[in-house]
Amino acid sequence: MIPAPLHPREDARLQALADAELLDTPPEAMFDDIVHLASYICGTPIALISLVDRERQWFKARTGIDGHESTRDVAFCAHAILDNGLFEVEDAHTDPRFADNPFVTGAPFVRFYAGVPLTVGDDALPIGTLCALDRRPRRLTPEQTEAMQALARQVVRNIEVRKAALRTKALNDELQRAAAALSTSEARLQALLAANPDGMVRVARDGTVLDRKLSRDRAILPDAQHMIGQNVADCFPPRLARLFLQQLERALASDVVQTLELQETVDGRACDKELRIVASGPHEALALIRDVTERKLGERAKDAFVATVSHELRTPLTSIRGSLSLLEHGMVGPLPEEALEMVRISRTNAERLLLVINDILDLEKSSAGQIDLSLRPVDPPRVLASAAESIRGMAAQAGVEVVVGEFPAGAPVLADEARVVQILNNLLSNAIKFSPRGSRVDLSFETGSCGRLRFCVTDRGPGIAREHHARVFERFHQLDASDSRKRGGTGLGLAIVKSLVEEHGGVVGLDSAPGQGSKFWFELPCCRGGGERP
Ligand code: ADP
Repeated sequence: MIPAPLHPREDARLQALADAELLDTPPEAMFDDIVHLASYICGTPIALISLVDRERQWFKARTGIDGHESTRDVAFCAHAILDNGLFEVEDAHTDPRFADNPFVTGAPFVRFYAGVPLTVGDDALPIGTLCALDRRPRRLTPEQTEAMQALARQVVRNIEVRKAALRTKALNDELQRAAAALSTSEARLQALLAANPDGMVRVARDGTVLDRKLSRDRAILPDAQHMIGQNVADCFPPRLARLFLQQLERALASDVVQTLELQETVDGRACDKELRIVASGPHEALALIRDVTERKLGERAKDAFVATVSHELRTPLTSIRGSLSLLEHGMVGPLPEEALEMVRISRTNAERLLLVINDILDLEKSSAGQIDLSLRPVDPPRVLASAAESIRGMAAQAGVEVVVGEFPAGAPVLADEARVVQILNNLLSNAIKFSPRGSRVDLSFETGSCGRLRFCVTDRGPGIAREHHARVFERFHQLDASDSRKRGGTGLGLAIVKSLVEEHGGVVGLDSAPGQGSKFWFELPCCRGGGERP
């Protein structure tokens, strides 16, 4: 017996066989039918679809023979896959390759073999054969040969169709799993949305409402039923629509959630709303609208309380500071050194307390809209020089140089000069506080948005991480809890700045990153024509 040599591209051939996903699979009618036809056409008792694996041949379909496989070394098919057309053994007894083959000397006593390779893929690699076997020597007629070749092509086609069907089924299963997962997550999302009391609107970049969820509180989204397809400019009250579109633009230009609060009268009652707008795609955003009336009532009550208490504290505290100052300066006679030190400490603390109280009162007045701004055309370089001058002592003590930049020719701003100096003082004192000794703080101008002038205060201090940018403008917010001890301050300075700037119809902002210093800026409206409020 002479075993067949391996195929010249054996590894690729074995891979093609594995890819066919046929080995050790249950019988299938489309292959069984073909072996019955082969046996019938060739008039042989045995026909097989045999797949030649690494060390065995395995029968995907068989007729006239028991058993599913044999070792490769005794397989006629291992020879047949090396042939291009029909591999035929007329009489195994007289063929030295097969005369002592156990299938020839024993059951099923093969004498005749005719096999056509099953070639798959672009490389036409033979993964097995369609073969017919007989117990007597013979030859196939040309018609039988042709029929066997046609049937072999049919087997290959079936293999390909079957594989495509398997792939489709796998894809289908995956799709169904994905659809099930999607519907679970959709259900979760719906539950989450239902549990959320906020109203929600999904809007396109131009303000067209794409979708909306009603709030339990109808006051939140008054005409929500009819909103889809409309522009927010047509279905929100004018002020809300204007602010909404402004924040929408900002939300789409950055990945930062934009918030805005406003009060409206709905059905005769004051309603405070909070809007959070976040980009939900390149050209659309999601807006959550919440009723914060209760919270605002509480905040206002608290602020009013704090303001009253502060106000009541200010008068006695001013008098305490005055008395301590008199004591300190020996107006009532000299004090022993130790007592003088105590008086000095008490006076400094009384001053600090007064500072906090004045800040609270300022902020309270400003957020209650009680600050009377006396708006006049203000010359920007003059106000900058005056702010720099007033902070000179502090800068000198800290070893920091304050540099005032050039003012590009332009219109004056319409502002309350004393308040602008107050704003600049707050920003400058922070910049100096956080600057390393020997560094400089720049005061400069830039062109602002919407025809406003931008005032910038730039330092070379530690800088502020992006996630804290909005929060530093909140009341009592200090990034480092030890700031008030180490550097003084109340955490109210920037809240006052924001409030005063907004009172002027301007905006505040911050460009900063850790290790890169901070640039705090604010924009004030420029005078138009005769200097009326724009
Ligand atoms: P404070 O009176 O404590 O300075 P502010 O409202 O002015 O209060 O500032 C709030 C916080 O913002 C400060 O405590 C500090 O953490 C941070 N901050 C303000 N200005 C700067 C700056 N120029 N550089 C770094 N951090 C700053």
